[in-house]
Parts: sequence; structure tokens; C-alpha cells
Amino acid sequence: MGTVAENIEAIRARIQAAAQRAGRDPHSVRLVAVSKHQPLEAIQEAMAAGQTVFGENYLQEAEAKIAALGQAAAWHCIGHLQSNKARIAAEIFDCIETVDRLKLAKALETRLAELGKIMPVLVQVNVGGEAQKAGVAPEEAGQLCRDLKQFPHLSLQGLMTMPPFVEDPEESRGYFRRLRLLGEELAAQGFLGREGVVALSMGMSGDFEVAIEEGATLVRVGTALFGERDQAV
Ligand SMILES: *Cc1c(COP(=O)(O)O)cnc(C)c1O
Repeated sequence: MGTVAENIEAIRARIQAAAQRAGRDPHSVRLVAVSKHQPLEAIQEAMAAGQTVFGENYLQEAEAKIAALGQAAAWHCIGHLQSNKARIAAEIFDCIETVDRLKLAKALETRLAELGKIMPVLVQVNVGGEAQKAGVAPEEAGQLCRDLKQFPHLSLQGLMTMPPFVEDPEESRGYFRRLRLLGEELAAQGFLGREGVVALSMGMSGDFEVAIEEGATLVRVGTALFGERDQAV
């Protein structure tokens, strides 16, 4: 593996190539650098290389990093959020990709209203129907998106998913496609993408190119960018 800066450059080139293969504008894909369990220095290195969007899974860790590195970057919550942590999440994040139930949405709305802050959010969908994974079932996503309309401080941008783990990224293609089709269906029904663009957060280190071919607008890349995670961080 190269330095963080070299890795970012290589990933950007792969994003561009995948977008071009699919006949898409490379600028329609944003790279979210997944910095969980990565030290501050690695994140600073990424920032110095022009990376502006970071994804964090754990609230306490994110709080410390955002306090240290501040508003120079945009911070996405990509981890499971308990409703009792919604207050802090509402305060520190710039986007919450993991809204998967009404109770959480309500708790976020309450704090966001107090703050006078509009939060871009994604609905997390459990496309693989895995019992151990967070996310709303695909057939219930429409209802949740509809319910979110009652919350003026949640700006619903699209959908996020984390499909079942597979060795061969080609095996993820069907799940990514399913999320895109679901997004298109919900947009057609008027529940998503008021501006006509539905955000789709899908694809990680092992399969982000396949995800881009299937329509990802946000790819969440950790180990391919930073290297292995340090559990002590
Ligand atoms: C950790 C994580 C990633 C990044 O995974 P890598 O395989 O390291 O790229 C992406 N999305 C979510 C939700 C994660 O928890």
C-alpha cells in the first residue's frame, strides 16, 4: 500500500474509470473516506490531499475527531445510531446516512429543531435481509421515506446500503441494482429526490467500482484508502 495521498489518487482514478465505463459523469460520484479506527494524523493526511468528506461509525470517536479537526471537512454518520444518541449526532454530523426507523428520525428532528439546523439524511436499507444488519426492509422503505416528510429539519436525499459480505464483488451487483431501482421507484412516487437526483450510498473498498457501475453517488472507502484499521484508536 502507498501513502494515504497516493491511495486517494489511485481510488479517484478508479472511480473515474468506473464512472466512464458506465457512461456516467465522474463528478456525480463522491468519495467518503471511512476514518473509523484511524488516527488523526491519517485523516489530516487525507485532508491535505484534498479529501473533504469523512465517514465515522462510532459516536464518541467521531466527537473527539470532529472536535480536533473541526469544520474543515464534512462528517457523515455511517454507523448504527441509537435513539438516545441522536442528540449528539444531530449536533456533530453534517449528514446521517443511517436513518432506519421512525423513533430515531423523531429524536433527530427534536434536537435539530432546537439547533435550527437542517440535516441531510439517507434511509439505510437492509437489501440482503440479514438479521444482524441494521436498515429498514426494502418493502418498508417507502413508508419510512413518507413518514420522514413530517420532519422539516430532515432533508431526505436518498438511500444507503451495506449488502451481505461476499468475496467476489460481482456478487454485490444485484444488491446495488436493487437499491438503485428502489430509489427510482420512490422518486417516481415523490418520496425522494425533490431535485430529481437520488443519492445512493453504496460500495466499499472491495466493491465500489461495481457500485458505481450500478449508480452509486457516494462510495464509502476505508481500508483501500487508509490501510488496516487500528482497533486501539
Ligand atoms: C467500515 C465501513 C465501511 C468501509 O469499509 P472498507 O471495507 O474498509 O472500505 C463502509 N461502510 C460502512 C457502513 C462501514 O461500517
